[in-house]
Amino acid sequence: MVRRIVHARVGSHPAAEDLVQETLTRVLAASPTIEPGMLEPYAIVTARNVVASMWRDVDRKHRNQHRVVDLSTPDPPETQVLLDEEQSAMATALARLTERERRTLLDHEVKGTDTRTLAAREGSTAGAVAAQLNRTRARLRVEFLLAAAQIEPPTEQCRAVLMALSSGDQRRQREVQAAQHLLECQPCAGLSQPLLERGQPRDDRLTIPVTADPDIVTARGAARELASRLAFGPTDLTVIATAVSEVCRNIVRFAGTGEVVVNLLEVPRRGIQIVARDGGPGIPDVERALDDGFSTYGGLGLGLPGVRRLMDEFAIASELGHGTTVTMTKWEKADHE
Ligand SMILES: [Zn+2]
Repeated sequence: MVRRIVHARVGSHPAAEDLVQETLTRVLAASPTIEPGMLEPYAIVTARNVVASMWRDVDRKHRNQHRVVDLSTPDPPETQVLLDEEQSAMATALARLTERERRTLLDHEVKGTDTRTLAAREGSTAGAVAAQLNRTRARLRVEFLLAAAQIEPPTEQCRAVLMALSSGDQRRQREVQAAQHLLECQPCAGLSQPLLERGQPRDDRLTIPVTADPDIVTARGAARELASRLAFGPTDLTVIATAVSEVCRNIVRFAGTGEVVVNLLEVPRRGIQIVARDGGPGIPDVERALDDGFSTYGGLGLGLPGVRRLMDEFAIASELGHGTTVTMTKWEKADHE
């Protein structure tokens, strides 16, 4: 996809492959902070920007050629122009906030008034003020980018999409179909890159390589730690840790090498998903392996049937000679439920 976009813009320019590689490198570097659903639009936006910056560089080299001859030329006047433009874009953006948003933000950021004092003044709570400040900052970023690019968004939807990206609100991004919009709306795609890059590193997912017994302990502890961020009771935490041990033990024993991915889920509801993958010989008879009378370790451990019973969802995909993937999920519920 990236290659297609780059070639559509630069044809068979000798730098085309470099631009493709640069785009992929940037996408990879940013990927831990980007929602999986937003990765494709991000790649497209990045590809366009990488190509555009190459043309800019070529242009700048042209304009600056005289400086190679005359090294005493001071910094180009455009540096100051850029700073002025930035300031005037910020002024425009601030003017687009409501009076109340602007006052609260400036009191907090410039005068250093803390959220508790602001809350007392507004007849609100510190938490609500902090949330409002975050929304205001998100809006200011959007308005700043629009003002700096001198763009008036072409559709009603644009500001809602940019705002959802700017606030990093994934639920809202899904609601306004942000990914789809970026693919269809050129101006928003152009503006979205700095907003997409603002995401926090995803800390709701862990990948643990599994090749030997100590990795079982690591995976077990990591899954338990992640799961404990949800409202799982102690019994469920033990069940999750045990299930992870079991699938890891299978990897070490039968495949030699593989990985376990532990993932906290928000949709369709809160829960923990564990995916264990290996590139081993595969299970010849999955039905039989899940049969209660069948234990892989001659009676030791739970075996896959035990794991299946303990988890809420459980699926095995296995292909002989290619490997096995076990996917299992436990939905959040307190022990007393
Ligand atoms: Zn748009």
